Amino acid sequence: MTLPEPRPGLRLREGYHSPQVEVKVRLNTNESPYPPPASWVESVAEEARGIAFHRYPDRGVTGLRARLAALHGVEPANVLAANGSNEVLQLLLLAYGGHGRRALVFEPTYALHSHIARITGTDVVTVERTPGFTIDPTAAAAVEQHRPAVTFVCSPNNPTGLAEEPGTVRDLVDGTPGLVVVDEAYGQFARWSAVELVDDDRPLVVVRTFSKTWSMAALRLGYLIAPAAVVADLEHVTLPYHLDAVKQAAGTLALDFRAEMDGRVEAITTERRRLVDGLEGLDVDVWPSDANFVLFRPRRRDGAEVWASLVERSVLVRDCSSWPGLEGCLRVTIGTPEEDDLFLAALTEVLA
Ligand SMILES: *Cc1c(COP(=O)(O)O)cnc(C)c1O
Repeated sequence: MTLPEPRPGLRLREGYHSPQVEVKVRLNTNESPYPPPASWVESVAEEARGIAFHRYPDRGVTGLRARLAALHGVEPANVLAANGSNEVLQLLLLAYGGHGRRALVFEPTYALHSHIARITGTDVVTVERTPGFTIDPTAAAAVEQHRPAVTFVCSPNNPTGLAEEPGTVRDLVDGTPGLVVVDEAYGQFARWSAVELVDDDRPLVVVRTFSKTWSMAALRLGYLIAPAAVVADLEHVTLPYHLDAVKQAAGTLALDFRAEMDGRVEAITTERRRLVDGLEGLDVDVWPSDANFVLFRPRRRDGAEVWASLVERSVLVRDCSSWPGLEGCLRVTIGTPEEDDLFLAALTEVLA
């Protein structure tokens, strides 16, 4: 018997993979090197004991949405939470993308924006970034001509590092007929947030996650801040009870630990300066970063070879060397000072 074919084009797509190699120093997926506060873990365990597990969870996610709304100074109707911000992106594309519609991305950027667009049947239009990897201020004109249903802005941009200027985002919102989605997975490291521009009459959505600055990648929780009408549209493509009770409780409790989260962002920012200083002493080009990672390129050595030599020394970074526009580049996540010292020592050895 032959098995049926999936939708046309689907098998041509590579899945999204970040290799999970067993190493001592893992600096490849931009997780926080620090676990969340132990008292948060305690309170989640305590709360979990009280959950009525035989019942469906709160379908409207009312408690968590109210707390997220208060955090950002918006209404609960402006908030939608999902299982990681990648699921938020998928909901946006299910509702606003699809057959006959376009999503626009500024490359190089986070691969999942175009990947999720394609698996939802959305055509992808690519606009190149400037040599410094920001969005060209005149890009709004080019975008206008493509008439994308969704325009993705990753700010700070993964994997290159810089946040966009408020004017750039404002011009894009004014210039496109569709929705502008600002992915702020690393937003707490930036000097400003596009959340301040969100308004019920403006086609702007900001996506955030608990995976990075909140140190909760395993929780799989992300959310968006958007016009209430957009949130209402997204409810049509959200599965009933998609956010489980443990996650809703854990996310709500996490917001009591904002000060601790801010403290980790500060510590990582300080450590980033030290790591960049170390990199600048080596034979590599280094790009400025507003996030918890740094993009660099060995000047006289093949990027993929350097990556493999680092793995041999039990250090894992992200190999971006074969990505268009990032030839020879590697991305390192800021780790603990000990991890970063091991990384710098291994890289020094590899480049010697
Ligand atoms: C890491 C990352 C995410 C996080 O996705 P989750 O599904 O929330 O873990 C989203 N966007 C960007 C740009 C990222 O780098």
